[in-house]
Amino acid sequence: MMKLDLSATRSPPIGLVLLIDDQRYELVTTEPYQRADGEWTSVLIWRSACVDCGAPFTFTTSKAVPRWLNRRCELHKKPGNKVKHASRASAEAAVP
Ligand SMILES: [Zn+2]
Repeated sequence: MMKLDLSATRSPPIGLVLLIDDQRYELVTTEPYQRADGEWTSVLIWRSACVDCGAPFTFTTSKAVPRWLNRRCELHKKPGNKVKHASRASAEAAVP
């Protein structure tokens, strides 16, 4: 029986959309990545929207089909991190 190595030889197609618990994940692109042991593989760049604030964010996974996916933007991905209205207001004000 052949061992299936998904990490280096197979990648899902760019533009793939996953729907997990009503959250949409789109595979934006892949990038070459050199591992600590010097071997080249590729990482997947995903885009989604934060379940807390709806802000778009991207994140990287190393497996062809990741077992877990981020559900929140940088601001909200830490558990217990509450939305601060002041910071949201200043972020909105910074947008021209
Ligand atoms: Zn957020």
